[in-house]
Amino acid sequence: MKKQFKAESKKLLDLMIHSIYTNKEIFLRELVSNASDAIDKLHYLSLTNKDIKVKKNDLKITLAADKTNRTLTISDNGIGMSKEELEENLGTIARSGSLLFKEQMEKKKNIDIIGQFGVGFYSSFMVADKVSVISRKFDSEKAYLWESAGADGYQIKETEKDSIGTTIVLNLKDGEEYDSFLEEYKLREIVKKYSDYISYPITMLTTHQHKKENSDEYEEQEEEVTLNSMIPIWKKDKKTIKEEDYQTFYHDKFFDYEDSIRTIHSSVEGKCTYTALLFIPAHAPYDFYTKEYEKGLQLYSNGVLIMDTCKELLPDYFSFVKGLVDTSDLSLNISREMLQQDKNLGLIATNIEKKIKKELETMLEEDREKYETFFKAFGMQLKFGIYNSYGMKKEELQDLLLFYSSSEKKLVTLKEYISRLKEKQDKIYYACGETVDKVDMLPQVEQIQEKGYEVLYLTEYVDEFVMQVLNEYAGKKFINVSSGELDLDTEEEKQELKEKNEAYKDIFAVMKDTLKDEISDIRLTHRLKNHPVCLVSEGNVSLEMEKVMNAMPTDEKVKAKTILEINENHEISKKLEKLYKKDPKELEKYTKILYAQARLIEGLPIQNPTEISNLVCEFLAK
Ligand code: ADP
Repeated sequence: MKKQFKAESKKLLDLMIHSIYTNKEIFLRELVSNASDAIDKLHYLSLTNKDIKVKKNDLKITLAADKTNRTLTISDNGIGMSKEELEENLGTIARSGSLLFKEQMEKKKNIDIIGQFGVGFYSSFMVADKVSVISRKFDSEKAYLWESAGADGYQIKETEKDSIGTTIVLNLKDGEEYDSFLEEYKLREIVKKYSDYISYPITMLTTHQHKKENSDEYEEQEEEVTLNSMIPIWKKDKKTIKEEDYQTFYHDKFFDYEDSIRTIHSSVEGKCTYTALLFIPAHAPYDFYTKEYEKGLQLYSNGVLIMDTCKELLPDYFSFVKGLVDTSDLSLNISREMLQQDKNLGLIATNIEKKIKKELETMLEEDREKYETFFKAFGMQLKFGIYNSYGMKKEELQDLLLFYSSSEKKLVTLKEYISRLKEKQDKIYYACGETVDKVDMLPQVEQIQEKGYEVLYLTEYVDEFVMQVLNEYAGKKFINVSSGELDLDTEEEKQELKEKNEAYKDIFAVMKDTLKDEISDIRLTHRLKNHPVCLVSEGNVSLEMEKVMNAMPTDEKVKAKTILEINENHEISKKLEKLYKKDPKELEKYTKILYAQARLIEGLPIQNPTEISNLVCEFLAK
């Protein structure tokens, strides 16, 4: 009975079948890569399961071309697939890369990007009009045949197979462009180009004319040739590797369609000997900021994969790094538990962390534009690093941070900020809001800029928590421009303000009575230039933090200690005085509107919008 492909798969399949992509040869890269993964899996299992007997030297991938029947066969003696797995794996899109590819295709309608993606098994339909997969799982006597001629579905039935593993038979499409996939020279060329580093031999049976001994006659002789050099890219001499070789490897191995922004290839000899090949992606994977994302590097022991994602090799704040480590200092059949305590692994991890940090610093210094691209993708992760370590990683990470600067109008480092400090400036000023534009319009920012101070604009919700953990940089304390503790006045100005506030005591008492628990104080301020009012906060919880924390899905709600400040130099302060004497009822209304204004400016909700709207209308109608 024919079964239908899942909807997603069907679309991808259609794209493949009707592909006019010229680089169809990549199907072989995909099938060889699957075969190699399958062998890896079996080999990996055999390390911990004694019942599985695998001779390393027997592991291989075999190609066979049959010109008469126009078939190309790719076989492996890897882990194999059960009936259910054939159904699962080949009936649906397995990998995120393929899904991403499909999305990109639909968006851009750009056929050229096929080669950049790992599109997987389905790419065989670019060259074949029928695909047969015969597979026997390593722990089973039974074998199954999966067969499909494309869009109209697939069939699975029981079959026979002598040995474990998977054999894929491609019935090549008619046409000259497909003929070459039956030629040894072409297959050799494709394997060299895309799969040379595969660590198992990719062999092929070829026939040669061989001269018989003591005779003039020739006979056909079969010979098995190995097509790949099996030297993994990271074991090659750096000087012989081109940037595009690294990128091809990166795309293929780590399923990214974009080039990495930075590639680190380093070999270390000493207390611990290892080679690391690391890539910093140019963009965050779609699942990066979710729980599903798994950090880690591939771990090899002398070229043999022993772990696919070894998370011990990367700190959380560098979890975006992709790559691998190959070392001879770890035993092959080390268990996961033992590995965690392995001293060598710890050493390698520490070295790698330093190396990545250095690389980021270099990028920041030498290629600012690239670094900003990096920071936009992963800066948040560095900030989490500082926050989650309660500041323990402060020294390591603080110089990698970038913040938008009010005076430079671009992203700056803390070091750069310090280099521009005004004489006697002993604080680093920052302001928070949703966007740069919104922060720019905060009344509290205006005055401080007027005085010539640079202000860092924090627009991400972790930012202010990070500032609290950092506490200070180069001996200068961080301070929020909306903080009650901001202190810009001279002693005389302070004294004058104090007296004025004293004189307003009774007026403010009435106003406080109107606003009740909403605020903890009202006072006159010098903080504002043109604006009539603003809110400031005192204590550990700022207004921005109140917003962030109350948006979290917990029952615990926090409230900043809020103070309503009124611009001493604004007409409104005199008006309040008049109202207090003549019309206290009006003063209450004014108070409500002023407070609502201050909240709106801060991006905070107002509790009684209808009342405020009515009040404003009342004044408009006057
Ligand atoms: P991907 O390889 O990215 O997961 P594919 O569509 O190429 O996506 O393959 C889907 C799945 O089918 C693989 O994840 C793997 O589990 C299985 N598979 C493919 N080829 C083989 C093979 N030669 N041996 C064993 N399993 C295979």
